[in-house]
Amino acid sequence: MYEVKCIGILTSGGDAPGMNAAIRAITRTAIYHGIAVKAIYRGYRGLITNEITDFKTQSVSNIIQQGGTILKTARCMEFKTPEGRKQAHDNMVAAGIDALVVLGGDGTFTGARIFGQEYSIPIVGVPCTIDNDLFGTDYTIGYDTALNTIIQCVDKIRDTANSHERLFFIEVMGRDAGFLALNSALASGAEAAIIPEIVTAVDQLEELIENGFRKSKNSSIVIVAESDITGGALGVAERLKKEHPEYDARVSILGHVQRGGSPTAADRILASRLGSAAIDALLDEQRSIMVGIVNDEIVYVPFNKAIKDEKELNRSVLDILRILSI
Ligand code: ADP
Repeated sequence: MYEVKCIGILTSGGDAPGMNAAIRAITRTAIYHGIAVKAIYRGYRGLITNEITDFKTQSVSNIIQQGGTILKTARCMEFKTPEGRKQAHDNMVAAGIDALVVLGGDGTFTGARIFGQEYSIPIVGVPCTIDNDLFGTDYTIGYDTALNTIIQCVDKIRDTANSHERLFFIEVMGRDAGFLALNSALASGAEAAIIPEIVTAVDQLEELIENGFRKSKNSSIVIVAESDITGGALGVAERLKKEHPEYDARVSILGHVQRGGSPTAADRILASRLGSAAIDALLDEQRSIMVGIVNDEIVYVPFNKAIKDEKELNRSVLDILRILSI
């Protein structure tokens, strides 16, 4: 049994559009319930270097539409050491913080799980990553915005691809998960998606060549997830050049543009609901859990499961993509 009087909020790891909307929801829901809020800057690093300030309702005014994170984010190796975490705990106690809400991905939750256990601190996680690769939630904050950014870029590349009647390999983020690649391919009318989930089972490039790019098509677009195994879009294009020199392919790597921009309505709504749910979870005496959304309902997922379990891609989308590209 514990009573939370003051929470600390931090954003950590990779940034994602919608983090600010979540910070706003967490802050205002906490204050609504009489809980004080302290903002911790630069993720776990700020906890160690004591970058902590009070947050009021107006501290989060006019941020719902902003990409990135007003709290900044950082990767912090020191937090992986017991000494670093002790310093973080000392600062937390000195600031009067008795619970944490952490926004990030599986690295952030791994740190939270260890820290929470070590010092018996209630910690709730809010899933923020454009990759959508966290188990236990249908969607993560930032994914929808990134998807929309990608299809806007692909639409533009299609204009030039069409004019020159060219084949394009477009690389998107998602080293370990093909959600962005697969669904952006479907949403942009691409020919195919080369994704990490099936990279070892099937030679997707060979399959693509065997099926043949439709002859009547003016252009072809293939979305490729970044990957150490395939070498991403550049790797796939190089292979094509070597093995099938009759094709003249171009490469476009979208890069960090995918992380930025004003969050979509879907991400703002998700962030507002999950941010609010994070405070409800603390009031419910939950600890070491991530809040998630499944079938439009809020769920609590133990950090262990969110980190370790693999979120399955819906493979039927691959079949639809194949059918729609004939
Ligand atoms: P993400 O949350 O986007 O997956 P990272 O993997 O970079 O991002 O993790 C963010 C931060 O979480 C790291 O910089 C580190 O401070 C903390 N972290 C990650 N793994 C651990 C760990 N095993 N022990 C303690 N802290 C960790």
